[in-house]
Amino acid sequence: MVSEILDDKLIAKIRLIRLLVLDVDGVMTDGRIIMDYAGREIKNFDVKDGHGIKVLMRYGIDVILVTGRRSTVVEHRARDLGIGEVHQGVTNKLEISDTILRNRSLNYEHIAFVGDDIVDIPLLRRVGFSAAVADAAEDVRKCVDYVTISKGGRGAVREVCELILKAKGEWTDVAKRYEFL
Ligand SMILES: [Mg+2]
Repeated sequence: MVSEILDDKLIAKIRLIRLLVLDVDGVMTDGRIIMDYAGREIKNFDVKDGHGIKVLMRYGIDVILVTGRRSTVVEHRARDLGIGEVHQGVTNKLEISDTILRNRSLNYEHIAFVGDDIVDIPLLRRVGFSAAVADAAEDVRKCVDYVTISKGGRGAVREVCELILKAKGEWTDVAKRYEFL
């Protein structure tokens, strides 16, 4: 039951969420970057996170990736999951979010954001629902609505996707679809 994890105030906030913004390194991945001799990057993504994102989008919640780094791997992963909007090389996540919201005629109360490091704090403080991965920096964990049980790149995103669907009362429908209810 979602009410055992979140209080009523938080459930009410999550019900307003229309958009999930995700940081990439340390949230979509475990934060480690492998570089080969040519300087190409390899990152670890989580299959269950990916499926959570796909299910969430199927229920009308858009997902956007926002990252301070630049990597072709991120483009590939986004395409793989059907994520249409990716912002790389972002130095100010709050500023890009202003643009994202303006383009969609939404407000900060409609955004959920998951972060792991201190650069994410300004946006985490503004959004309707903020989450930090279990292994986020201590200052990040202190300022969010919810800290996931799972670590970044190891199910944290899946946890947030399920939480949003549960708070919105959609999880029962997901359960029926996959016959685990
Ligand atoms: Mg990060």
